[in-house]
Amino acid sequence: MKFATKAIHAGQHPDPSTGAVMTPIYQTSTYWQKAPGDNQGYEYSRGTNPTRKALEDCLAALENAKFGLAFSSGMGATDAVMKLLKPGDEVITGNDLYGGSYRIFTKIFANYGIKFHFLNLHDPEIINEYVNENTKMVWIETPTNPTMQVVDIAAISKIVKAKNLMLVVDNTFASPYLQNPIDFGADIVMHSVTKYIGGHSDVVMGALMMNDEDLYKRLWFIYNSCGATPGPMDSFFVLRGIKTLHLRMKAHCENGRAVAEFLKDHPKVERIFWPGFTDHPNHHIAANQMRDFGGMISIVLKGADLQETFRIASNFKVFTLAESLGGVESLINHPATMTHASIPKETREAAGVVDNLLRLSVGVEDIEDLLEDLKNALS
Ligand SMILES: *Cc1c(COP(=O)(O)O)cnc(C)c1O
Repeated sequence: MKFATKAIHAGQHPDPSTGAVMTPIYQTSTYWQKAPGDNQGYEYSRGTNPTRKALEDCLAALENAKFGLAFSSGMGATDAVMKLLKPGDEVITGNDLYGGSYRIFTKIFANYGIKFHFLNLHDPEIINEYVNENTKMVWIETPTNPTMQVVDIAAISKIVKAKNLMLVVDNTFASPYLQNPIDFGADIVMHSVTKYIGGHSDVVMGALMMNDEDLYKRLWFIYNSCGATPGPMDSFFVLRGIKTLHLRMKAHCENGRAVAEFLKDHPKVERIFWPGFTDHPNHHIAANQMRDFGGMISIVLKGADLQETFRIASNFKVFTLAESLGGVESLINHPATMTHASIPKETREAAGVVDNLLRLSVGVEDIEDLLEDLKNALS
């Protein structure tokens, strides 16, 4: 099946007891057993729930994966992946990560004896210099947040496989519509479903997709043991959101391109980060591994101090100043004090997240209104 058909149908069948076309919200914590152990595959909703199962099968299909697991947040999904490791293990990752990923690595799992190397992965060969007998995992994010750097998944996967490591890709920014890391050799795809997949800024959720059955079983064990699993109502909302994922993504890409082109030569814009420009340093990689370039754009304001950056960020009427991204409505965010505030200033600035950088999540409103809003806010 092709993407749009999977988005609408995968994992979902008319309900056998009523014929309901939409997957029912199985709002139950527990399930009847005819005799102890004689059940219909469901025992307790922390471990399995039919609404969540339909969503997980759909999520797996979107990433060309065999298995999917939904978590109560993207961070819950990341937490489960890290629990595959043990004290003494080492992880190689990028130096331009989602702030919450950086925080859970350095402030939580470092305390449990796991060591992280934050590298600039432009040249994937650098991984070889940091691999030793304790290295177990490579964790990448592409495009990165918020500077939209693109990492070559296939090139990294080649190095990772040669060293017998596990490759995890945070695919939140691209969404499964634009990029499928498993096709390039990733072992696990992680999503903050909160963003494009959910798409309506009304649910917080995470997901992991994988092909290897043994890995799936290990992750399911962690998921059921640690318990960061989402409820049936949220699962239903996301199943509903996914039905328009392909339509929304097309519109995000179209509006994203128009906004990027408008901002590129704007006198108030010093730098723009959007992988669709042919002069973006990783454009050729993006063109190879992504189907289009998305609606996430960052800009550095020309000669603006923090106060002027705040003034402009608060000046929008259609774009909403808020954290998060990937919803139908356009958002603007000031990473240095909002999404990336938990990263120390020096580390943050070394990765290009300067005080006068703003990140836009271009929504699917009428493009004329978005451009008008940008024009007014930047004047
Ligand atoms: C939001 C986000 C996360 C965390 O997901 P939550 O659903 O907020 O827990 C992880 N990675 C990226 C790239 C994100 O944007």
